[in-house]
Amino acid sequence: MNSLPHPASAPSNQSLDEFWMPFTANRQYKARPRLLESAEGMYYTDAEGRQVLDGTSGLWCCNAGHGRKEISEAVARQINKMDFAPTFQMGHPLAFELAERLTDITPEGLDRVFFTNSGSESVDTALKIALAYHRARGQGTRTRFIGRELGYHGVGFGGISVGGMVNNRKAFGAQLPGVDHLPHTLDLERNAFTRGLPKHGAELADHLEKIVTLHGAENIAAVIVEPMSGSAGVILPPQGYLKRLREIASKHGILLIFDEVITGYGRMGEPFAAQRWDVTPDIMTTAKGLTNGAIPMGAVFVNRDIHDALMHGPDHVIEFFHGYTYSGHPVAAAAALATLDIYQRDGLLTRARELEVYWQEALHSLQGLPNVIDIRNAGLVGAVHLASRDGAPGTRGYDVFESCYWEGDVMVRCTGDIIAMSPPLITEKTHIDQLVEALGKVIKRTQ
Ligand code: PMP
Repeated sequence: MNSLPHPASAPSNQSLDEFWMPFTANRQYKARPRLLESAEGMYYTDAEGRQVLDGTSGLWCCNAGHGRKEISEAVARQINKMDFAPTFQMGHPLAFELAERLTDITPEGLDRVFFTNSGSESVDTALKIALAYHRARGQGTRTRFIGRELGYHGVGFGGISVGGMVNNRKAFGAQLPGVDHLPHTLDLERNAFTRGLPKHGAELADHLEKIVTLHGAENIAAVIVEPMSGSAGVILPPQGYLKRLREIASKHGILLIFDEVITGYGRMGEPFAAQRWDVTPDIMTTAKGLTNGAIPMGAVFVNRDIHDALMHGPDHVIEFFHGYTYSGHPVAAAAALATLDIYQRDGLLTRARELEVYWQEALHSLQGLPNVIDIRNAGLVGAVHLASRDGAPGTRGYDVFESCYWEGDVMVRCTGDIIAMSPPLITEKTHIDQLVEALGKVIKRTQ
């Protein structure tokens, strides 16, 4: 049983000890838990019956808002019809249908799909595809990967190796060998308070050339970046940066992987950030918004040439020794198809674009508040970067996050001292006002 005093919002007989919560300050959380019990549209309702505005689409995933009956009904129908079917040497129609439907919205050429269950699995799958591709073409020396500082690519060993958030790696010792990192693109001196993409920093992509010189292109498999780093606190690509990265990677036969687990499915005002910023990667990892968060699922989109390079050998040979029991799970596929219907019917894949200026100006109205040292935005994502307290980095961000929840009735995310927001794409302007107003009040009060 929980030895902590029972907080007001926890059901009194519920022990909180046993669930080891992920990416959570467990002891702090359990001293005053934030328990979400139901959700509808833009709002959660917590255990105290309070309505909390969802400023983060859950965990960047509920792009169509909560409680979408089309999704829950599709899921229920599918479970009743067929709960599970393998996709190893077997198949079922929904996985094929979903793959085909998805390739209608992907960037040109990315029309082969490998299904996973999460962003982390998508990333490790993408890295393995890159290795297998080079090997299939007789370039088996291409085994090195390049990530980027402050990048987040999930928690698999591949993902933490190419990822660049030190806290996610430092407890785990050995990782993938042969990984380098590009410099991150956060530049508070030159780019603070830019609206949209920062002007300065495209030249940071040239660092890729240096790594190529160091190791030789013939040893490098792929470079992986988030088009916009979400988890590190909304770090945007400087204007021209992604194009430059694309050019250098192509020049050296290095595959370019975009991790679009956050930016995919409308977050940036186009189906994918690749389209928004007009740069097409060779492989693209996704998850989250694919099913509106309702059922775990991920998808890796692969350029057809890469896929075809692996389709070799006699007919009975398995071309790629990789997959998950739940790859293309029928219930997840049903959820994803229903989600895609909503996104397309309601125009959500481009709605962030329509709201972008309003969102941007609302966020930037917080400039000048105490401790606000940068504000960043793109699509329907934004961040307010707060100055760290001397000797206690992360505490101000956490305090603001907590007060937003308890006092402001809004859910935001904090990563260190950065407050990140990504409301559902069904957001109305009044929700943006509520979110930004609540955050502003809390920032003013938090010293
Ligand atoms: N890549 C990126 C860019 C992400 O933002 C995330 C999750 N925030 C992941 C990978 C990992 O996804 P998951 O938590 O579903 O494994």
